[in-house]
Amino acid sequence: MPGDGGGTTDPVAGGSADREAQRLLTLDRLDIIYTPREQVFDDLVALVAEHCSTSFAALWFMERELQRFKVSVGFSLLEIDRELGVFDRVVRSGELISVPDASEDVRFAGTAQVTGPPFIRSYIGGPVRAFGEVVGALCVMSDQPDAFTAKDIASVQRFTDFVEALLELRWRRSQDEAPSAHEVRMMVPMVTNRSQFDDRIGRHRRPAWVYSTETLRFLAVNEAFIDQYGWDREQILSMGILDIRDSDEAALLETTLRNVDVFPETMVRLWRHRRSDGTSIHVQITTTECVFYGIPARLVFATNASARLASDHGLMTAARRDQLTGLANRQQFNEALAGALDDFPERQLTVMLIDLDRFKLVNDRCGHDTGDLILVAAASRIASTARQTDVVARLGGDEFAILCPLSGEDAQVVAHRLCEQLRQPFAVGDTQHYLSASIGITGRSADSTAASMLVEADVAMYASKQAGRDQSTVFDDELKMRMDELATIAHELHIALDADQFRLDFQPIIDAQSERVYFEALLRWHHPTRGVLAPNAFLAVAEECGLIIGIGRDVMRDAVQAARQLADFPHFGGVCVNVSVRQFNDALLAQMHEVLAEAHIDPGLLIVEITESALAQPELAQLVVEGLRSMGVGVWIDDFGTGYSSLSRLGRLPVTGLKIDQSFVAALGETQSRCVTQTIIDLGRGLDLAVVGEGIESEQQARTLQQMGCRYLQGYHLMRPMPLADVIAYMDAPSSREASVV
Ligand code: C2E
Ligand code: MG
Ligand code: MG
Repeated sequence: MPGDGGGTTDPVAGGSADREAQRLLTLDRLDIIYTPREQVFDDLVALVAEHCSTSFAALWFMERELQRFKVSVGFSLLEIDRELGVFDRVVRSGELISVPDASEDVRFAGTAQVTGPPFIRSYIGGPVRAFGEVVGALCVMSDQPDAFTAKDIASVQRFTDFVEALLELRWRRSQDEAPSAHEVRMMVPMVTNRSQFDDRIGRHRRPAWVYSTETLRFLAVNEAFIDQYGWDREQILSMGILDIRDSDEAALLETTLRNVDVFPETMVRLWRHRRSDGTSIHVQITTTECVFYGIPARLVFATNASARLASDHGLMTAARRDQLTGLANRQQFNEALAGALDDFPERQLTVMLIDLDRFKLVNDRCGHDTGDLILVAAASRIASTARQTDVVARLGGDEFAILCPLSGEDAQVVAHRLCEQLRQPFAVGDTQHYLSASIGITGRSADSTAASMLVEADVAMYASKQAGRDQSTVFDDELKMRMDELATIAHELHIALDADQFRLDFQPIIDAQSERVYFEALLRWHHPTRGVLAPNAFLAVAEECGLIIGIGRDVMRDAVQAARQLADFPHFGGVCVNVSVRQFNDALLAQMHEVLAEAHIDPGLLIVEITESALAQPELAQLVVEGLRSMGVGVWIDDFGTGYSSLSRLGRLPVTGLKIDQSFVAALGETQSRCVTQTIIDLGRGLDLAVVGEGIESEQQARTLQQMGCRYLQGYHLMRPMPLADVIAYMDAPSSREASVV
């Protein structure tokens, strides 16, 4: 009875074995002991301590042999032997116990916690029930006698009710959710043979099994598995796990299984499984490595997600998980971040954005199945580097995020570890794939919002990429300034496009053999206050905010107009237009078609310059280059020699010219650059392509290039870029033209 000074009744002293088994089963169902800390229980225990004006309080659960502390305030015990613990009595009696002075009470006086730390004198323990069974207790303690009043007893009683309500809520919710990888990992040491499996997991509400990672055969299954999948126990033990796969997924699974390195130690993800009657179910799988009868195996839990996917609530839950990796998705991450900012105004919070370097390349080259395997493995490496309490999400593509309660500095230590983890090769089949990660970190500030933190982390991540990848950057004042500057540029670019502030200059490219002259159209921003700006001051921003599409359309139109005006000069070869990767798609073909039709000019007077990075997507590159060529437009590869285009692929692309990157021309004095330059020239000749030497700044460079066989020349030494009016004057005056040809 509350407040009667002690549990005088002890109805189950000695305990009926049945009752105890029932109690332990309930505890199992609750899944509360070996789980990460939960804020709500921490807060609750802190609150009860405050209410009772003491600094010692705890919430504990009683296992078969151990009293496990879920939360302890004022001391740091994790567990004590049930035998040694004073307060098993609460569990046995099922009643609240209040002890005014333990050292005076024969039942408690001799026990370790009374005679030694934490020297308990006063104690109130309220039993916590779930499904009618006493599973643990909420208690307050003091090292002083008579520390508590009747009001405190009532408080403990009330808070105990709260705990029970929370446990029930939590259990209801857990019905829908798959166990976490951590929870499953905790079971591994307790499930090393069939009888332990039957004992601990045999009646678990979710289907569970153990299979050999060598033969892939089932070694043990529980009752829920038999219920839900339909095979009987004899049958299933002669089957392997591929037999319960939907055929679509069997192949992916097999590759996954054969690649132990890629198959993460623990993982959570959605699969489609087959029942004995041929129907399929969606299950969420939580699995971890284990050892069964001494052989390597995996322990697997399946949570039926079919019903969940069908219900509205399920749709919401499914919509908040990333299907491939089982991590949170962008929506859930945003919600968690916004929630954390609102709910814990004082707490440190850090957002880390992790982008895999070179992933797109691997994905394009090796196919999406390999890409998917790598993403799953990367997700697992990231999740196991983060802490259990962190929110880990895949925001999309190869971009991941972590939300954690750390300072920027501590987060950098974690980021460092992440970089190290993701630098390790990913083995798929016989191939090792080397990737790395660029990470951006931002800490919360006074006026942070979820959106602002994501933008900051993104800016910091981008800075890591620019600094050479495979590193992390913390968002700081300098980056903030840079970000503000970029925001200003983006804003002004919108105005500039409407106000027609973009103009083209044209730089001659001279054909040293025929004296024909081509002109490269180079974009200039005539800024109202900052003067004429060159592309490197704004192009990256225009690309990032998508404005490059609108700007590019105007450039194309103006360049075609210029070609029309120059078309009648006999030495005019054509106009070259630069196109950025963002523009390089089928919309470009439509655009080109439109402007050519409008202007009625010979398409042969137009050349599109693309960079090697546009070739990273081979199918798209083939499509666009062939499309342009079929219209009769020329295609040159700009800044050639700096990218990764493979020579075999180049041979198949119908491009018409190569522009040797300026860096090689600038360093012609060095053997290496000279060799590369000569190779490009020979390659161009071999494939019958125009080869342009650009960035020629001296007589010497022009002469050397010509001697090496480079036919087309461009650079300040010959002519600087100039407005169209000057181009026309130049074409009108044959003497000045001849003078520029060396
Ligand atoms: P790019 O296509 O490689 O153009 C050559 C750049 O080198 C131009 O810079 C040109 O002014 C500069 N240049 C020419 N001769 C010399 C020389 O002798 N020495 C040196 N140091 N530089 C020389 P600009 O105009 O600043 O353009 C830079 C880049 O911006 C271009 O590189 C091109 O990739 C891009 N770009 C220019 N206009 C456009 C455009 O309309 N659309 C797109 N998407 N990109 C453009
Ligand atoms: Mg160019
Ligand atoms: Mg160039």
